[in-house]
Amino acid sequence: MNIILLGPPGAGKGTQAQRLVDSYGLVQLSTGDMLRAAVKQGSDVGKRAKGFMDAGALVPDEVVIGIIAERIDEPDCANGFILDGFPRTVAQAEALDRMLEEKGLGLDAVIEMEVDDEALVERITGRFACASCGAGYHDKFQQPQKEGVCDKCGGTEFVRRADDNRETVVSRLKAYHEQTAPLLPYYRKRGKLKTVDGMASIDDVTRQVKEVLNNLAAAQ
Ligand code: ADP
Ligand code: ADP
Ligand code: ZN
Repeated sequence: MNIILLGPPGAGKGTQAQRLVDSYGLVQLSTGDMLRAAVKQGSDVGKRAKGFMDAGALVPDEVVIGIIAERIDEPDCANGFILDGFPRTVAQAEALDRMLEEKGLGLDAVIEMEVDDEALVERITGRFACASCGAGYHDKFQQPQKEGVCDKCGGTEFVRRADDNRETVVSRLKAYHEQTAPLLPYYRKRGKLKTVDGMASIDDVTRQVKEVLNNLAAAQ
């Protein structure tokens, strides 16, 4: 099964992707995570991407398409993947269609997570993650069961993203509405778009997403 999670920054794509990895054995392909790793390493891709990311703007298409093309070639992707944060422009969606076609692969569904802009600001400014395993948390909506200790790995160090501040969020939301929202009609036209209510609780969104995936599996 190959799926895309599509939604604005803070919609819950990463949170749901982690859960789908655990229950369906799919690989999570997050271009945001890949780009942050590249910036940390100081690689050429990282150097090109950093200024755009700090400003809350999209990284140029050719950079992101290049990293996804390489990643999708790795053998673990053959069992199915969840794209989280890619594609984000129509040019990226078209490039993805070409890549999949070359490999004889298809997309099973594009799951749109619908969330209001006001809720997104609160979600993003309260977001943090485990420094060792990357598990995602929120100050208010998803605290570790034991304060200061990661539920998944027992780690005690947490990190916040440099771009998760109020000012950058405004630019990121603007980029979403201007450059990414056109993907909704793109995939609707192709019969791939399924929408879930991303305003619901984390567990309820998981239930909705699983329902979509189970219906797809049943129809196959
Ligand atoms: P995205 O990957 O779409 O940017 P995340 O999955 O990182 O979003 O979620 C953003 C923040 O909101 C995280 O701190 C997460 O714990 C929290 N969150 C995710 N889904 C929900 C939800 N349905 N309700 C409340 N908070 C949520
Ligand atoms: P979010 O939580 O906002 O959905 P991501 O982790 O997906 O954030 O992305 C963080 C930043 O990385 C984006 O603001 C953008 O600068 C860059 N980025 C990630 N994915 C892409 C992409 N597919 N195209 C262009 N830029 C991207
Ligand atoms: Zn952890």
